[in-house]
Amino acid sequence: MKIVIVVVDTLRADHLGCYGYHRATSPNLDAVAADGFVFTHCFAVSNCTHPGFTALFTGCYPETTGITSHWTRVDLPDAIPMLAEIAKAHGLRTLAVDNLYDRWRERWRLYPWFRRANDVYEFRQDPNGHDTANCDLVCDLIHRHAADDFLLFYHPWYPHGPYQPPAGCQPFEWDKGDDLADVVARYDGEIVYTDAEIRRIVEAVSDAGIYDQTLLIVTSDHGEIMGEDRMVRGHRFNTSHIDLGDECLRVPLVLRWPGVVPVGRSDALVQQPDLLPTIADLLQWQLPRAVDGMSLAPVMRGDLASVRDTVHFVENTYQKQRGIRTRTHKLTHSFEDGDSVVRRELYDLEADPLEQFNLVDIAPGLADELEARMTTWVSERLAAAGRTEDALLAQDITSDGLRDRGWFAHERRLAHAYIWRARQRNECG
Ligand SMILES: [Zn+2]
Repeated sequence: MKIVIVVVDTLRADHLGCYGYHRATSPNLDAVAADGFVFTHCFAVSNCTHPGFTALFTGCYPETTGITSHWTRVDLPDAIPMLAEIAKAHGLRTLAVDNLYDRWRERWRLYPWFRRANDVYEFRQDPNGHDTANCDLVCDLIHRHAADDFLLFYHPWYPHGPYQPPAGCQPFEWDKGDDLADVVARYDGEIVYTDAEIRRIVEAVSDAGIYDQTLLIVTSDHGEIMGEDRMVRGHRFNTSHIDLGDECLRVPLVLRWPGVVPVGRSDALVQQPDLLPTIADLLQWQLPRAVDGMSLAPVMRGDLASVRDTVHFVENTYQKQRGIRTRTHKLTHSFEDGDSVVRRELYDLEADPLEQFNLVDIAPGLADELEARMTTWVSERLAAAGRTEDALLAQDITSDGLRDRGWFAHERRLAHAYIWRARQRNECG
């Protein structure tokens, strides 16, 4: 039994060929997807890294784990196992090429749960700042452990900002006089780079003779804003992952395992906590404790159309927010001073997919209905987790730059700095 999970940081689903993007950013992932199963509407639980990875590997929402923000100051409870712990208990070697813990170890020694139960946990600093040395390590681990049962988790950093794709990674033309188009093209170029890494991993698994024995999964921790920032907030140019818009939350989810995972696609609403119970279902593992997520195997088999009719998310890094999304609408609450709601936003995602026009005063009944569903859902999560307080409201945000809008100005300067640096180096023609 081999499991290879590639969680690409900051990868929007809609910038990939297999999700309909107009540029050829992902021919190698597209080939995997054509031979596997694609979930077209998979959503992160948060706009930031640590809540997303924690949800993927625990099968639980931030309301259960308590991990609500990046730079969180709390630890994952020991009673909530990570995927690596479960895999190890089932006899798999556990291998991780990841920086979620090690990158900060000397400074803060935080986020220890990311390396729990891993036989190998390593991340190589590439002198060029790229992921190549880590992909080398991934391919080496695949060859070294080809005769073993293993779980291999790889966390490529690209296409996280600053967007500086290596030369040759932008096989498309764009308007270099348009700053936003320039930023988007560089983001896309980084996807091209990481997609080439996926090709190397597929080749390594094939060369080792284990491709068809391997459950290969590709997903992401969160997306990225590419200038879709809300007009109502007065910002038109932004590249980061700082709120609960779909561009920050909709991530790819592709699974391939011939003979076990059917070839197909589903537009069912699914979410990061569903990954762990899906893996357990496919491998016929008994989970050691209940999780929040639902196995997607019945959807892939065609036995169920969907496992949920709402998805849920929190933001507690730059601002304090909670949201609920149905297939057609999204409601978010922004909090200030504990639990007081200072802003409600309601969007019609079919008529207004960029979430520009807040309908909360136009459709108050719908907003109230979604609020009631969100409140009930949170109460159920807290009760199931045995928590007496809501971690989102109890924990302070870990960056306060948004309070005075300084973050947006900072980001805008950063975006221009990316362009300037890249042009100075003439890296991309
Ligand atoms: Zn991230």
